[in-house]
Amino acid sequence: MQNTSSTQRPPSHLFYQSRLRRPLVDRAEGIYLWDQEGRRMIDGSSGAMVVNIGHGNRNVLDAMKRQMDRVTFAYRLHFENEPAEDLARMAAERLPEGMDRIFFVSGGSEAVESCIKLARQWALAVGQSERWKVISRFPSYHGGTLGALGVTGYAALSDPFSPMMREMPKIPAPTAYLDRDNLTMEQRGIKYADMLEEKILAEGPESVLAFIMEPIGGASTGALVAPDSYFPRIREICDRYGILLIHDEVMSGVGRTGKFLGGDHWNCKPDLIALSKGFASGYCPLGAMAAPSRLVKPVLDAGGFQHGFTYAGNPLACAAGVAVLNEIDRLGLIDNAARMGEVLKGELERLSERFPFIGDVRGKGLLLAAEFVSDRETMKPLPKELNAHQRMVDMAYERGLIIYSRRTRGGVEGDHFLVCPPMIVTNEEIGSITSILGDTLEALAAELDLPVNR
Ligand code: PMP
Repeated sequence: MQNTSSTQRPPSHLFYQSRLRRPLVDRAEGIYLWDQEGRRMIDGSSGAMVVNIGHGNRNVLDAMKRQMDRVTFAYRLHFENEPAEDLARMAAERLPEGMDRIFFVSGGSEAVESCIKLARQWALAVGQSERWKVISRFPSYHGGTLGALGVTGYAALSDPFSPMMREMPKIPAPTAYLDRDNLTMEQRGIKYADMLEEKILAEGPESVLAFIMEPIGGASTGALVAPDSYFPRIREICDRYGILLIHDEVMSGVGRTGKFLGGDHWNCKPDLIALSKGFASGYCPLGAMAAPSRLVKPVLDAGGFQHGFTYAGNPLACAAGVAVLNEIDRLGLIDNAARMGEVLKGELERLSERFPFIGDVRGKGLLLAAEFVSDRETMKPLPKELNAHQRMVDMAYERGLIIYSRRTRGGVEGDHFLVCPPMIVTNEEIGSITSILGDTLEALAAELDLPVNR
């Protein structure tokens, strides 16, 4: 990707992952961001699926200002604080029954690390010290810290660190939509869930501590949704072997999929839940682990949880979180995500009729993706050299729309892009997003010589 800003800027002392330079952001409101040259962009990915309630929400900003005038930091070993208490209660009220203990952190990786470490300390506290393996799925993304990376199924990210980290056992993500067998979707769901049992047996059930999964896939799989039968079977298998089920709801949580949690679509009852992103909607860095008392109590009784971060329960971040949850309720944003998600998914499906190189449209609520293929029957991916997913993102960016993409799906590579606007999005705004997507796909087809139905 090139520098998309037209003005010359001095070299930066800052660095991120790549040499890429982007325009300087100036301000943001609703589903829009403006750069310092006054160019308006539609935030069609809510940042990185973060800004669920949209930018510049007055009530959230006012609540944060009120908190800033009182206290922005008090260390948890010296003081507790009201916003953290309130947010923990509000989160527990919205989570599956029994998930009544909340441990605050500052982001998704920290939330995942916390789940893994609480699980391990629980096992030690109840005399099951031989349990330490955390099975996960491939592909998946659970975070960038070394522990979270160990359960992440994304080789390019973990390979450089392989001597330094503990690579955990993986099973395939449930990419039932790619299978070309005679099974029904429900039978495929069982087939993928049973791979967990096979892995547990291969590893030795007494050594397995937990299984971690994203209930609805994020960027790594492109909003992958497993068949309904997958979820109860996974729960059953975890119960059979006394293994804790961790749901990583960092991306799928807090309303994005049209329910408070992605797992709520199937009434899932995981043992631990990781939250972040939409939890404070980007107004402050915030994440959390949710756990039931039955897991927390033995750990605290055994001497305490040997884990924690300086900024845990930060009053300003928690005040933002409280205000965000209040705004989600006041504006009915979870229902809106469900309704607008249906509209947007319908539009993506319509685009797939015009552009036959879209082989699959999937996701729930406003966590939606479309996958490119060279053949819909076989679901063969486009050649890697075309770099179709990145061209799609760049060409949409040139047209004023921000989307997100990856070239990963199941065991084979495949291009997809995600369209995940803030949950405040309106019918009219979906019209604008769809129109830019149509223009972009048209330009992509012309550039890469892909078929278009006229
Ligand atoms: N889990 C999931 C499912 C995620 O999508 C992400 C971030 N993309 C993380 C964990 C890590 O979160 P963070 O970048 O805030 O550490």
